[in-house]
Amino acid sequence: SIIVFGSINMDLVTRTPRLPVPGETLLGYDFFTAPGGKGANQAVGAALLSKTSYMIGRVGNDSFGQELLASLKVAGVQTDSILIDDTTSSGVAVIAVDDRSENTIIVVPGANGKVNHTDVERLEKLLPNASVLLLQLEVPIPAIIAAAEAAKKAKVKVILDPAPAPEKLSDELYSLTDIITPNETEASRLVGFEITNQETMTKAVEFFISKGVETVVLKLGNKGVFCANASDSFMLPAFQVNAIDTVAAGDAFNAAMAAAFDSGLSLREAIKWGAAAGALTTTKKGAQPSLPNKETFDTLFR
Ligand code: ADP
Repeated sequence: SIIVFGSINMDLVTRTPRLPVPGETLLGYDFFTAPGGKGANQAVGAALLSKTSYMIGRVGNDSFGQELLASLKVAGVQTDSILIDDTTSSGVAVIAVDDRSENTIIVVPGANGKVNHTDVERLEKLLPNASVLLLQLEVPIPAIIAAAEAAKKAKVKVILDPAPAPEKLSDELYSLTDIITPNETEASRLVGFEITNQETMTKAVEFFISKGVETVVLKLGNKGVFCANASDSFMLPAFQVNAIDTVAAGDAFNAAMAAAFDSGLSLREAIKWGAAAGALTTTKKGAQPSLPNKETFDTLFR
């Protein structure tokens, strides 16, 4: 099975002609809520493409929490290991989008910010039957490190999506990571220089490998993927699709990679699965609703 240890959010999306300035009230023209959080997105993506996907994390004891649990269940995610935290609200992202597609986003971690070693204890119970652990950076770092450590001990593959990327990531977490999957922006931030060409890409890979990461997977949007480790390096071009909205492409990528590994496939196959799921996700709007299921996924391999 696949386990995701990470964030669960409700996105609160408002549409407005322009973004307000401080002190200003203006009238928007559209509002909707949508389940999100990189962790939950990846758990849904994995559930759609594999037999079993477990989510570990927290929601608040509020209506968003109930909705988030329900939507994960509907997508086929195992939610028994999600804690309902009475002490705080569910995580939310308050998003405003204007007519030029500029946005402002306020993320309030809420329950995600409370994730700690007790959540790792629930993870440990599931690890014996797992093949892959998916991590991102939207819950507290000490808990992420403890989760990675537990997975390592259980010989479960650790795939880290370093998003949102900090300027510096803990050396301990790097050394526990089997596969790191930054996009260009995230990789540039983590290595401390702009990645613009083959030379800087190679330098970035060297940086991550020197930190103890086994395999580096650079997600390059419509340019595809660059993958490198000590024994192999290759470029996989993107699948040609009609991209309309890239939200959650990266999450779909990681989920599909995990599904491939869970089916016993190789690194190269896993990257191909990731790229296919990422590409398909860009052909639909939104985060979780745009993630491909097996049927959609197969269309790219026929
Ligand atoms: P993120 O969503 O984390 O920023 P990317 O934008 O790089 O990451 O997308 C992840 C992967 O999804 C890419 O490596 C690529 O394989 C696929 N992908 C993203 N955008 C496109 C696109 N426009 N056309 C085809 N594939 C895409």
